[in-house]
Amino acid sequence: MHVGRKLAMLNPRTSQFRVGSGGLPAIVATDVAAALGMVEPGIGREMLCRVWWPDGAKLTAHELKNLVDEMMREEWARRESSMLDATLAVAMRGSRAQGVYATAHAARWPRMIVREHEVPVAASGYGRVRDAVLEELASAGLCQACLGRGEVANDMRVYRICKDCSGQGHLRVSERSRADLCGFSWKTYREGWASVYDWTFQACTDDLHRAERQFQGAMA
Ligand SMILES: [Zn+2]
Repeated sequence: MHVGRKLAMLNPRTSQFRVGSGGLPAIVATDVAAALGMVEPGIGREMLCRVWWPDGAKLTAHELKNLVDEMMREEWARRESSMLDATLAVAMRGSRAQGVYATAHAARWPRMIVREHEVPVAASGYGRVRDAVLEELASAGLCQACLGRGEVANDMRVYRICKDCSGQGHLRVSERSRADLCGFSWKTYREGWASVYDWTFQACTDDLHRAERQFQGAMA
């Protein structure tokens, strides 16, 4: 059973609905909650709760956003520092310098700080990407046929794998939908922000999967 479905048992409505659906191992809600306690705090644990057991989310929406911002800032700084190293290498006429420079330049993210009237302001694009990634992870990508459960019940309450998403619970969100979700034009998204989005989405997904494995391990 998907870890999320175990967690979803903690939702009052879902667990009622679950009674008598048959074939499920009897897991006591307290065991599920205890297993969740074994999951390292962070983005992954938060996302796991936000999708499957909203009452169990520990951080406020604001705290979660700060966590993602911090991760994006670190990655931005890492890329800027590669860029600086490459620029220095070119200045010193290193043999591989041109190639290193081209790579670092291509991987560079949009400016993080924009100066408005001499006051540094974080470029708003980063916040838009962060919000869209969190939304995609928590809901926008959820399969509407099974609401993320990966299975659907017929009138007899017999559960089958959801055909719409092949039991994944999520649908792949298109690149264009991602641009729309951020409020960027397609051109702006492709040219400046797609790489930020892909990296952030992957980092948050990796965190979520790590949390799922820890939860799974604690339940075993
Ligand atoms: Zn589905």
